[in-house]
Amino acid sequence: RVINFSAGPSALPLEVLKRAQSELLNTHQSGMSIMEMSHRSKSFERILHEAKKRLRSLMNIPDSYKILFLQGGASLQFSMIPLNLLQKDNEAAYLITGSWSKKAYAEAKKVGDATIFASSEDDAFRSIPDFAESTLSKRTSYLHVTSNNTIEGTRISVFPKTNNNIPIVTDLSSNILSEKINVTDHGVIYAGAQKNLGPSGVTVVIIREDLIGKTEATTLPTMLDYAIHAKADSLYNTPPTFAIYMINLVLEWVESIGGIEDMERRNRKKAQLLYDAIDCSKLFSSSVKKENRSLMNVPFKTKNEELDQAFLHFAASQKLVELKGHRSVGGMRASLYNAMPLEGVERLTDAMTQFEKRST
Ligand code: PLP
Repeated sequence: RVINFSAGPSALPLEVLKRAQSELLNTHQSGMSIMEMSHRSKSFERILHEAKKRLRSLMNIPDSYKILFLQGGASLQFSMIPLNLLQKDNEAAYLITGSWSKKAYAEAKKVGDATIFASSEDDAFRSIPDFAESTLSKRTSYLHVTSNNTIEGTRISVFPKTNNNIPIVTDLSSNILSEKINVTDHGVIYAGAQKNLGPSGVTVVIIREDLIGKTEATTLPTMLDYAIHAKADSLYNTPPTFAIYMINLVLEWVESIGGIEDMERRNRKKAQLLYDAIDCSKLFSSSVKKENRSLMNVPFKTKNEELDQAFLHFAASQKLVELKGHRSVGGMRASLYNAMPLEGVERLTDAMTQFEKRST
């Protein structure tokens, strides 16, 4: 197998893939595959229940929060958040830190009034804006933030404090389960699964119960209503059963590693190794502000596009793949999600050293 640095869908732990393979034809002694199992069966209900219980325990999610498994990706949450939370005559505030938060903001504007809390667009999103002086009007229904900017490689390390109990809604798609976060600092957390949780096709929404049913539900399409999904325990319609099964296996694997604290320790070590290699190099560089560097997505460059291409070829010849940077940023991007072992990053930094020697 290759070392896969994809930003998403990304590598899954080999142990998890092997387990799924071994159970593919006969899952949980049911005599059938998980993919053939009714979502109303006892076997599937058990899997759903286990996945929720594991996530609750790993992230320390209080009982006052619902855990939902939905479809439509994190992108559908860009619409569901304002549709469900933005109250009449109120506004929604957005911290703009990259392409994904811009997209979330654009969707909110289609639903109602949305304002910019702070933005680092002027800095080409190479940093998290200083929001210490930013304020929220009393009419704010929520403040939306993107905790990790997958494309630009930045991360929020300290979340804003809001006045008047205004809830923070956090897109945790690209760093869920990678580091400890205090769930109760957030009103809603959502994440597409395809980076740290499992395969694509399922989105996890963790929502404080009192934020459910805040808007006029009469015109809200049923499938976009958190209240419906919460009431039906994510079984209003056929959920993505295979993806939920995979999440359960991934969560079991996270437990076996020692939970989020151990995962964070591993992730910090991996990121440090790569950032040190970049900072010590005369060829490779990172344009992200040091204090705001992501632990998950590391964009870097050589001196020109030709050398970037040559490095990508060289890396691929060593089975180090999916390192091409996002088209809006260029260069390279190494995604170091939970499933990336330290040895994968060591292989990458070795390749960088070899390449630098060859090209100078
Ligand atoms: N938000 C962030 C931070 C992301 O990284 C992504 C995808 O990479 C999305 C949202 C969109 O997710 P989806 O493709 O599940 O809609």
